[in-house]
Amino acid sequence: MEFESVIGLEVHAQLLTRSKIFCSCSTQFGAPSNSNTCPVCLGLPGALPVLNQESVGMAIKAGLALNCHINPVSVFARKNYFYPDLPKGYQISQFDLPVAQKGKIEVMVGDRVNSGNIASYQRKSFGITRVHLEEDAGKSIHAEGKTSYVDLNRAGVALIEIVSEPDFRSSQEAYDYLNHLRRILLYLKICDGSMEEGSLRCDANVSVREQGSEILGTKTEIKNLNSFRFLQKGLDYEIQRQIDLIERGHRIEQETRLWDEQIQKTIVMRTKEEAHDYRYFPEPDLLPVVISEEWLGRIKLEIPELPGQRWQRFIDEYCFSEEEALLITQNREFADYFESVVKSYNQPKIIFNWMVGDLTYYLKKDNKKVLDCAVRPECLADLIRFIDEGKISGKIAKKVFDQMYKTGETPEKIISHLGLRQISNEEELEKIIENVIELNPEKVKAYQSGKSGLIGFFMGQVMKESEGQANPNLVNQILKGKLD
Ligand code: ADP
Ligand code: MG
Ligand code: ZN
Repeated sequence: MEFESVIGLEVHAQLLTRSKIFCSCSTQFGAPSNSNTCPVCLGLPGALPVLNQESVGMAIKAGLALNCHINPVSVFARKNYFYPDLPKGYQISQFDLPVAQKGKIEVMVGDRVNSGNIASYQRKSFGITRVHLEEDAGKSIHAEGKTSYVDLNRAGVALIEIVSEPDFRSSQEAYDYLNHLRRILLYLKICDGSMEEGSLRCDANVSVREQGSEILGTKTEIKNLNSFRFLQKGLDYEIQRQIDLIERGHRIEQETRLWDEQIQKTIVMRTKEEAHDYRYFPEPDLLPVVISEEWLGRIKLEIPELPGQRWQRFIDEYCFSEEEALLITQNREFADYFESVVKSYNQPKIIFNWMVGDLTYYLKKDNKKVLDCAVRPECLADLIRFIDEGKISGKIAKKVFDQMYKTGETPEKIISHLGLRQISNEEELEKIIENVIELNPEKVKAYQSGKSGLIGFFMGQVMKESEGQANPNLVNQILKGKLD
């Protein structure tokens, strides 16, 4: 029997609001434990929540970017369960009526979309079930021995949960979707997107079924997937586990499992019998969230060009291939930088090569982002212009770039400071060339008796003598004049 896997993702994104969702406590990361707290987020009796409008605006942005319908009225609900990091005994979330629902996004999926070397991929559309607002819980810290601590700084931080339809057919598709979703959140500037630090978290639901079947199989939910790699490994393991069970005649039990990185397996966390009944009911302390046409209109204007749109525009406007456009729009700041350079000097292809080549190499080496880069876009533009104008050779340009990267100086200054200007003075070049000819009488003879390929040797010697500064076109002309 051929199997097909079916996957749906539930993604939690911490919103970049300055204060928490229902109180004015700071959301600053790294503050002393339990210092960012007040009666509301500590769940003290009688304290009343007040909705942070900024968080609603961000949730709407996410909904719009995911092509959802925005509900003009949505409702908060209490999700009841007991856990030490949940002081109220319930989480304020949304249930029946979320801020946004019924959306979809188009994603490029394929084997190697993420390796930067895209061999095969296709565009696929994935459904978004809903986007809702909720509050985060606190953090339990399990110390050595029998002691556990609770830090409530995170309790009450604003989250959105983005639930997808069960539309992914492989771990790769789930991976590419999450990557694309992350980029959208970053472009919107509503989440910092760090899976390692937990500001972007993902639970994966997975089932398998016979290829071609329309019926969904019994699913399991995998938690603890706190990196892209874990997501892919956890899913691949779980898919195979389910297939093995079915092939041996067993049934899949609906349960929640945890990815255990140590043993590279998913393990049972709780079974269906232990599943919570959350007894959702409308939150009596908060009014329904009303989103007026006017507010929605204002937020629509704040939505920037999104990764998918930018990708398409780069193909149309700069004549990039789909792969090239994807590489350069992976990250908003990187694409912004590219467009700043193009504004100064309109040579998209050459700029692309410098950015994806040298610039990326340097940034990766130092683990830096383009925003921290000392090379200003106008300076990179100047550097490229100087090559085109013949002021410096491509080889020298690499040296200049190295200095630009280290000092932030303009290429102009570096070139004159290091005396790197290209030698285009014929007299000067002739001297070097005559010297090279004199030193290599054998090679000259060979060249003149027909080994014309030796021109490359002479070129190389002249470039070496001039420390790469000789103008190659001129050298070629003069050399031929002297040798032929
Ligand atoms: P639950 O009530 O268990 O939370 P939901 O219906 O809310 O389940 O779905 C949660 C997530 O699981 C969604 O992303 C959805 O697409 C996905 N999902 C639902 N059924 C299946 C299934 N049979 N196989 C894989 N994923 C599924
Ligand atoms: Mg669920
Ligand atoms: Zn508070």
